[in-house]
Formats: sequence, C-alpha cells, structure tokens
Amino acid sequence: MPQTILKKVILTKQIRRADFLKFMSARKKRDLLRQSSYLVGKRVVHINAVADGGGVAEILASLIPYLRSLSVESDWYFINPDVGKRFFEITNKIHNALQGAPVKISGREWAEYKEISRRIAEELEKIDCDILAINDSQLLLAGHLAHLTKHKIYFSHIDTSSVFKPVWKKLFPAILSYHRVVFSNRDFVNGSLPDSKVKIFTPAIDPLAPKQKIIPPKETRLYLKKQGGIPAHCPLIAQISRFDIWKTPMGIIQAFRIVQNTYPNAQLVLVGFNTAKDNPAAKIVYKDIAAVAGKSRDIFLFFNPKGKNVLEFTVMAQNGADIIVQNSIKEGFGLVVTEAMWKRQAVIGGPALGIRKQIRNGKNGFIVKSPEEMAQKIIFLLSHPVERKRMGNAARKTVFGSFLFPRLVLDHLKLYQSCLK
Ligand code: UDP
Repeated sequence: MPQTILKKVILTKQIRRADFLKFMSARKKRDLLRQSSYLVGKRVVHINAVADGGGVAEILASLIPYLRSLSVESDWYFINPDVGKRFFEITNKIHNALQGAPVKISGREWAEYKEISRRIAEELEKIDCDILAINDSQLLLAGHLAHLTKHKIYFSHIDTSSVFKPVWKKLFPAILSYHRVVFSNRDFVNGSLPDSKVKIFTPAIDPLAPKQKIIPPKETRLYLKKQGGIPAHCPLIAQISRFDIWKTPMGIIQAFRIVQNTYPNAQLVLVGFNTAKDNPAAKIVYKDIAAVAGKSRDIFLFFNPKGKNVLEFTVMAQNGADIIVQNSIKEGFGLVVTEAMWKRQAVIGGPALGIRKQIRNGKNGFIVKSPEEMAQKIIFLLSHPVERKRMGNAARKTVFGSFLFPRLVLDHLKLYQSCLK
C-alpha cells in the first residue's frame, strides 16, 4: 500500500449516550437528541495535525466518541509525522504569524507548504464524508485546495485578532473558502472575516474524562503528602497551571506571605508540569519563582514531570487544595478554572477575560486585582467554611450549566446541521 500523509486515529474509547445525558437539563437533552437525529447516517470527519498532545487532540479524543454514541458517523485523521520535520517547521511559522508574530516565510517555504498541502488535498478528496472539519492552520491550505462537494468547516483554535498581515493576506482566500470558521472566543476573531461565516464555541470540559474525577479530600491529601511531601493537615493554597508570566505566580507568593500572618501554618503549592517538549519561556518563569521561593519549607513547586504521574497529580491537587487560585491577567479561557470549579472549588481568579467569563465575583468564586485583595479573599474563604462550600456548589452549577462537553457537542451538531440545510 502506498504511504499516505493522513492517518486514521483508532479510538478504542467507547461511551454510551446515557453516560453524559445525565449532565444535561431536560431541555438541552431533548435538543441534543433532536439535533443528532437529523444527522443520523451523515458522516463527519475531523482532521488535525497530531493524534495526541495538545488541546485539539484532547477535544477530538472526547468529541468523536460522543458523536458516535449519538449515531453520527465520525472519524478523525491526523498528519503522518513521516511527512517530515520541514513541513511542521513551516506550519509552525504560519501558526505564529497568525497569532501576530512577524515571521519571514520564504518563497521556497511557501512552495513546499503548497506542494504538501496539494498532496494532502488529494487524500482529503478520497475521504467519504458529508462534513469535513479542518482543525488548525497546518491543514488550512489543504482543506482549501481539496475539490469537494462536501461542506468544509475550519476550526481556528488560536487568537487571530492581530495577525501578521503579509502571511494573513496569503492565507485569507483559503480561510474564506470554508463554509464556516469556528473560534473559541469572540476576541480571537479577525476583523476582516465576514460575520456570517463566524461561529463561537466556548470551551468545555469532558465530565467523563479521568481529569474531571472527584476524589475525597482525605485520599487526595495522603497522595499529595506521599508524592509531593506536602503536609496533610495544613491549609493548602494551590495554583495548578503552566509557569507563565500572564498567570503571574509571583503575585500569589506575595498574597501567600500576607495570608501567613493570619494562617502561619498555611502551605502554597504551584503545580505547572513542563510537559511540552520545548518551552523555554516556562523555564525562565519557573526559575524566577524558585529564586523567590528559595528554600521556603511552606512553598512547593512542581515543574519537572520526571517520575510523576502528571494527570494523577493534577487531579489530586485540584481536588485536595483548600483554596484554588488562578492569578491570570490574560487567559483565553482558562480550562484549569473550569476544572477546579467542577470539583466544587470556589476559585479566586485574576481579572483575565477568560476567567471573568466563568467566575461571577462573590457568587461562585472571586475576581481579584492585587495580591492584597487575593490574600483577603483567601483568608475569608479559609475562615468561612460554610460560605466556601456554598460558593463551591455554585461553581459546580455554573460549569454544569454552561461549560460541559455535552453542550459543546450540541454546538457541533447545530453547526453541522446548519451547513447541511
Ligand atoms: N495542566 C495539567 N498539569 C499542570 C498544568 C496544567 O494537567 O501541571 C492542564 C490543565 O489541567 C488544563 C490544561 O493543562 O487542562 C491547561 O489549560 P488552560 O486553558 O487552563 O491553560 P493554557 O495552558 O492552555 O494556557
């Protein structure tokens, strides 16, 4: 058989619709089943760059089993890594340019991108489907070049609000050729795209994923003690998020020092496992924080994933902390906030737009603008357990109503249906 560029992802995970329908209100459940009934017998195929690693692969790994459980035929293909490093180097430049970086792409590089995209397009033409969904810019041109009678949707998972114009200009005709273009945030939409093509799908978490497991505090604190050396009986404050300047971990240390005036035995844990192969920016932030935290016995930093089960540790910390903070000043959405809220945490978040979409100040968490304010809210929540519980329950309700995967699946079904109409 000739070597192909696109490879099918073999998904072994199977779910039943009853597994997730229980997370929907009666009205939304009816809506979902009605929408899926319109699509029975139709075939939806998603294409992206990689089969695992990264947010898009994570979404597709959940989405495809959900669609199948609703009798919507669906498949997922990714790019065979054998296509070569060069292709990914060029598409990485394109990716950065679409997010605004002034990168130079030579004529030769454009020609190479076009040539491989043309070969991928030939393969796309052979895929049997009614809806073709292209995820991310690596496949943007291929999807455009494919001569298809089927409907094409482009999922842009990045912020294209201030693109690097020379690259955008070259790709704009390709983007325009899609029937719909989907973003995860209204602010990520480039102003030159016609409104009629644009759709916004707010991110969501999959309640069936191991990451969203609810674990009793006793078990989590024992685990954190064993695996991370964190004392089990002290108030524990945590931020679980990449080490990143926009997530301002330094401000948390300042807040923590204030909290210790009231709670001297409080502990702070910053979990930001560096799982990406190459993230020099995270290393710089981590080193700065490690220098400030010094040898403090009450601050625990987790950066190097070696020897740790990252998924398990993350879930345990999200469940086990008494207070979860997310001190971001910039955040596209902030899935970590959603994940913690689902676990009934009253999150104290920074003023980033993505966080303000989820936290209603004083109702299901707090929004703070300074370390002093953060300290004040941490002390408040630690000393008002009933209030903390009430807010945590409200947080879970917010996620239940707006940010769970079945809602995202409904967004997808409605879009497919509107394309086929
Ligand atoms: N995450 C994790 N372990 C860590 C740090 C982050 O598993 O030590 C996960 C987290 O649970 C979430 C994702 O990485 O699912 C981060 O998504 P988010 O939208 O919060 O932020 P991003 O890193 O994309 O800016």
